[in-house]
Amino acid sequence: MELYELGLAGALSLIKEKKASAREVLDSVFTRIRNVDGRVKAYVSLTEELAYKMAENAAGPIAGLPVAIKDNMCTKGVRTTCSSKILENFTPPYESTVTERLFKAGCSLPGKTNLDEFAMGSSTENSAFFTTKNPWDLERIPGGSSGGSAAAVAAGECLAALGSDTGGSIRQPASLCGVVGLKPTYGRVSRYGLVAFASSLDQIGPITKTVEDAAIIMNIISGHDPLDSTSAPIPVPDFTAVLGKDIKGLKVGIPKEYFVEGMDKEVEKSVRDAIAHLENLGAVPVEVGLPHTPYAVADYYILATSEASSNLARFDGVKYGFRAEGKDLMEMYMETKARGFGAEVKRRIMLGTYALSSGYYEAYYGKGQKVRTLIKRDFEEAFKKVDVIATPTSPTPAFKIGEKTADPLQMYLSDIFTISINLAGIPAISIPCGFTSGGLPIGLQIIGKHFDEETILKAAHAYEQSTNWHTMRPAL
Ligand code: GLN
Repeated sequence: MELYELGLAGALSLIKEKKASAREVLDSVFTRIRNVDGRVKAYVSLTEELAYKMAENAAGPIAGLPVAIKDNMCTKGVRTTCSSKILENFTPPYESTVTERLFKAGCSLPGKTNLDEFAMGSSTENSAFFTTKNPWDLERIPGGSSGGSAAAVAAGECLAALGSDTGGSIRQPASLCGVVGLKPTYGRVSRYGLVAFASSLDQIGPITKTVEDAAIIMNIISGHDPLDSTSAPIPVPDFTAVLGKDIKGLKVGIPKEYFVEGMDKEVEKSVRDAIAHLENLGAVPVEVGLPHTPYAVADYYILATSEASSNLARFDGVKYGFRAEGKDLMEMYMETKARGFGAEVKRRIMLGTYALSSGYYEAYYGKGQKVRTLIKRDFEEAFKKVDVIATPTSPTPAFKIGEKTADPLQMYLSDIFTISINLAGIPAISIPCGFTSGGLPIGLQIIGKHFDEETILKAAHAYEQSTNWHTMRPAL
């Protein structure tokens, strides 16, 4: 086994046994990046020199180990682009809380990973720079918007990574790349320094090779932050303490609304097999209803676009990044936005501005918030009966590059199983649970109650440790 194939826990134990050094791990990862990133294209920026410098003086629980960061989290002195032309040359003067905490824990930064522009998309095809490729099949998308982070983890171009998830952007790419992705509870992890897309939905979380690594990163990045008023002032448990505990008697809800016509047959079979496997481990499946599920995608695209239109107003050629010329202020604004933003971002700004405009606010945003409450209540009702809920993460495996770009509505359906979780503000994890006959990874989503990441980590770990999907690596 090569060192770049390891996760954080694996590397830490070799380092502890003095069988490898953090420097050798870095060497292996950068050699791997040189060998494969020309094909995978996971990184927007590489920071090799900085990574070695950070590793040299590193102390802390993950000293010297490379964790890649999605390029919508500000890194002081390191270009942060959101894969947008408008921020192509933006270098933040401050550090986001999550990277600050990771760096304090000793992590070194190998680089910043590609995403759909401003995290809007499900395939990384909306990146203004290039599309990341799925390491399992280079003709396919890696998922999105955190496709660069998921591909980097799957391809061994880092030991772990951070992503952000507004409607599925950690879990869906993790599922499509055969790795682990955890979206924490809204408020569990500070978003200070995360470039905002839809503020009531955005959440940062880990993309890793194993469930244990997800718990390790959660221990580092979670907890209240005075710089983010939406971060919750509640205690953070040791997320690794639940790993290895059995799941006898754990009640697993199976929502019938998530096993619908039109979903890929091989995905359905793998997920049903995974649920049967959980039952073999002692879990008890219980049918639950989440009746407002059919409204989730429409609801999300009202709320997320509205919030995006408001958040992205700040990119006007004055305060940050790219600025176009114009004969007066208005023309400068219009030219800057017209040339700085890509088509999907413009589509969402227009949709959201319309939904928020006076006279329409009640009919769209106001109504959307009410539907959101109904979706949240569905989960509250279900969680009166069960401890976790199991579903597929994505209705299909990775699709071909270009297959859905002509039809945004088709693309929006990629997140049909992940979006409700953001609307409800609850945590969910995606873990590998099989492959299609064509060799593409399939993911199982395990959803938990507010601030109960421990139970989903416990269930995910029990499943992972009794299967070997997580040991598979793409042949690159
Ligand atoms: N694919 C969804 C969207 O395009 C979710 C993106 C995300 O979670 N950032 O909005």
